[in-house]
Amino acid sequence: MELMFKCHDCGKTFEDPRIEKWVDRIDGDPVQYTEMFCPFCDSEDIDEAFECSECGEYHFDLFNGICAGCLKELAYDEQTAWEYGQEYSEKVEVNGLLAYLFPDINEALLKLAKERLNNNDHVNYCTDDLDAFSDFIKRREKK
Ligand SMILES: [Zn+2]
Ligand SMILES: [Zn+2]
Repeated sequence: MELMFKCHDCGKTFEDPRIEKWVDRIDGDPVQYTEMFCPFCDSEDIDEAFECSECGEYHFDLFNGICAGCLKELAYDEQTAWEYGQEYSEKVEVNGLLAYLFPDINEALLKLAKERLNNNDHVNYCTDDLDAFSDFIKRREKK
């Protein structure tokens, strides 16, 4: 795979940075320097970038091959958030009376969550740990 770079300043992606080489003398000895620049805006602030498997765009950081933007997008789907939460099911103690009244406590709480919480809480839950969430997405894609 070709190495790709992206510019922090202009945001453009490119394969071939402009390379400048020069020789300086330190204590009389020649030392060679190499510096890479963005071919579009000449910024030195460039880094290697990686292709997101979802959107195909290049980003500096990916989580299991997926960019943070795509993960957030995926998290908007309530069903996805629900399935992700299922994987991290937690044991909690429930008052005996409530356990009797609500034998399916998950259903009851989901109903309450939909009434009470604002729409982005499930997104925040998923994107709280992008490594874990992207891992879940990757495993789900394989099924
Ligand atoms: Zn640039
Ligand atoms: Zn993406």
